[in-house]
Amino acid sequence: MAYRWPAGTTFKRIDLDVQDRSCPACGRAMHVCDHRYHHLWTLQGPTQVVNRLGRCPDASCESRGCTFSPEAALSISMPRWCLGWDVFCWLGHRRFARHWSVSQLRAA
Ligand SMILES: [Zn+2]
Repeated sequence: MAYRWPAGTTFKRIDLDVQDRSCPACGRAMHVCDHRYHHLWTLQGPTQVVNRLGRCPDASCESRGCTFSPEAALSISMPRWCLGWDVFCWLGHRRFARHWSVSQLRAA
């Protein structure tokens, strides 16, 4: 079941682009074909990550049908997770190094 954000939540926005905008097969400049929106919790609060997806405009290119995602998206969180790596590490450190209980984590 998907996480439901409370109504009226304000998000900090992060925009990400594909780092190398040239097609890996033919070298032409890729176009932005779609946006993927990812909402997650970070230590800075609710965050919206906007991934601009790239695609080769050449219909005869062998990479036709492939969509390229920004590489930096995985440095913020795992795909489809609602926790950023910073929150995940914060929780993991307190749970497994300091042996906090789940109720302590929820209270913090
Ligand atoms: Zn191409």
